[in-house]
Amino acid sequence: MQIGGRCRCGQLRIAVRGRPLVTMACHCTGCQKMTAGAFSLSALFPAANFSVIAGETAIGGLHGGSRHHFCAHCLTWAFTRPEGMDDVINVGSPMLDTSVPSEPFMETWTAERLPWVRTPAAFSFETLPAPEDFPTILAAYKAQNSTIEGQGVLPA
Ligand SMILES: [Zn+2]
Ligand SMILES: [Zn+2]
Repeated sequence: MQIGGRCRCGQLRIAVRGRPLVTMACHCTGCQKMTAGAFSLSALFPAANFSVIAGETAIGGLHGGSRHHFCAHCLTWAFTRPEGMDDVINVGSPMLDTSVPSEPFMETWTAERLPWVRTPAAFSFETLPAPEDFPTILAAYKAQNSTIEGQGVLPA
């Protein structure tokens, strides 16, 4: 299954294959500033399942170890290559066509969450999960995903 995606202006076009490893909301103040919103929404994919189909990106954010890729034209934050995790890519959920659920399964940086914000995330972390937490989270997401698939919400 291939899922398309695009930035606000449509010059940057992306595609992912398969289902996300997990969906996330990040409440950190950096994400609040970059989205001008309460939190960022993203879907984690294996990096090998991701491709840029058209357009150019520009690096934004802090220009640090994690590379935040924005559309070079409309400057929409489209995806992030997280530092030290070369095998995964974090794609902004609003870029993707509707077939990927944007509802966050986990949330990070609740320590910086705006006081009026709540999400339906099953896993919450004050900062970031420890690396050893990921297998549990991903397995739980996969199990939930199978249930959704059984209800016919996700295409096979
Ligand atoms: Zn654009
Ligand atoms: Zn964040």
